[in-house]
Amino acid sequence: MYSYQAPEDLLKDRVIMVTGAGDGIGRAAAKAYAAHGATVILLGRTLEKLEQVYDEIERACHPQPAIVPMNLEGASEHEYQELAATLEQEFGRLDGLLNNAGILGLRTPIDSYDPTVWQQVMQVNVNGTFMLTQALLPLLKQSEDASIIFSSSGVGRQGRAYWGAYSVSKFATEGMMQVLADEVENVCKIRVNCINPGATRTNMRTTAYPGEPPTNNPTPSQIMPLYLYLMGPDSQGVNGQSLDAQG
Ligand code: NAP
Repeated sequence: MYSYQAPEDLLKDRVIMVTGAGDGIGRAAAKAYAAHGATVILLGRTLEKLEQVYDEIERACHPQPAIVPMNLEGASEHEYQELAATLEQEFGRLDGLLNNAGILGLRTPIDSYDPTVWQQVMQVNVNGTFMLTQALLPLLKQSEDASIIFSSSGVGRQGRAYWGAYSVSKFATEGMMQVLADEVENVCKIRVNCINPGATRTNMRTTAYPGEPPTNNPTPSQIMPLYLYLMGPDSQGVNGQSLDAQG
């Protein structure tokens, strides 16, 4: 899976949403999915970044993407429902959802963790991700072969000092994945899994490890094999797993 070589047409005719598509791993995934034939819906909070990704996909002559400017921190249940209705109207289908958007919050001990930041992290990484996924489930259930991927972390499997809300939110993400995977098993054609990207060269990594030379870690585009494998039909039957993008 870490060395998976995706056929060029892996995601042909599929419609796939990527959250946090304007930067880092989400940007690389959006471009990789488009390069393999998908119509990608780029969701994120910074319009200019989404427009850059849109332009790059268009310039590469891949299927025309769509942009959804949305902030997972403040969006209401109603806005998620509206988004689902718009997708159904515009595309008539949804075959994949990469829940990638996330924030780091603070690297401080629990005893001094700012409760406002704690709530922001939980809102983006857990509650917003839940509400978006819930709203899109009816559309995903209509697909003949749908995949939902959640983004986890090493600190979502083993807690570590000073990782605070981020670590707790990733434990919750692993839990959300397991609960949903069990609910869809043998019920519909959706598979649900987690990816732990591992240390990857992005703004989030630099913020978490300011002293680390960025070149120590792979770029987002170098960890795409697992993102492609889990999104495409070769992973049919893989459900409820938490996998490492770097082996
Ligand atoms: P990143 O470079 O910080 O990118 C995160 C993306 O999420 C950005 O596009 C950001 O938008 C978007 N986002 C953040 N808050 C949002 C909100 N409220 N609403 C909508 N979009 C929002 O992070 P990354 O390193 O690519 O991380 C991607 C995922 O992998 C995250 O879930 C992270 O926890 C996980 N992860 C990363 C690493 C690593 O080493 N990089 C390791 C383990 C897990 P803006 O561009 O507007 O900021």
